[in-house]
Amino acid sequence: MSDFRELYQEIILDHSKSPRNFRPLVGATFDAEGFNPLCGDQVHVWLALDGDKVKDASFLGTGCAISKASASMMTQAVKGRSKKDTEALFTAFHRLVTGEAARAGDDPEALGKLAVFAGVSEFPVRVKCASLAWHTLKAALEGAKTPVSTE
Ligand code: ZN
Repeated sequence: MSDFRELYQEIILDHSKSPRNFRPLVGATFDAEGFNPLCGDQVHVWLALDGDKVKDASFLGTGCAISKASASMMTQAVKGRSKKDTEALFTAFHRLVTGEAARAGDDPEALGKLAVFAGVSEFPVRVKCASLAWHTLKAALEGAKTPVSTE
């Protein structure tokens, strides 16, 4: 477990310091904004779909390391996925950070690197930080017109 914790801290630090796909997306087909008033995290997520496939994803945002790292890794994870696949990933990630996956015995390997966020489930306040970008992504895909709030 201590190796896991080290890996978790390393990955969160890396992605929060140099977030990937940290830019607005020209030619985006979907976008949405999200807020986590509890922590002050803000995120704007852009998606470019080509037919049913996510061709590109990006984000901009301010907030804590966990919210940034989660958004950064999410934009990497959804590229190349179908809309249905992206929604399935959202569900799997949500189950992971809420601890539901561990209770149900889901295979964490299915989430790849995102599995490091399992540690967040021990800190209820942080669950919203980790899932903010994902809720925003889902809202973007659903064509939400108003910003998402975790409250
Ligand atoms: Zn936060």
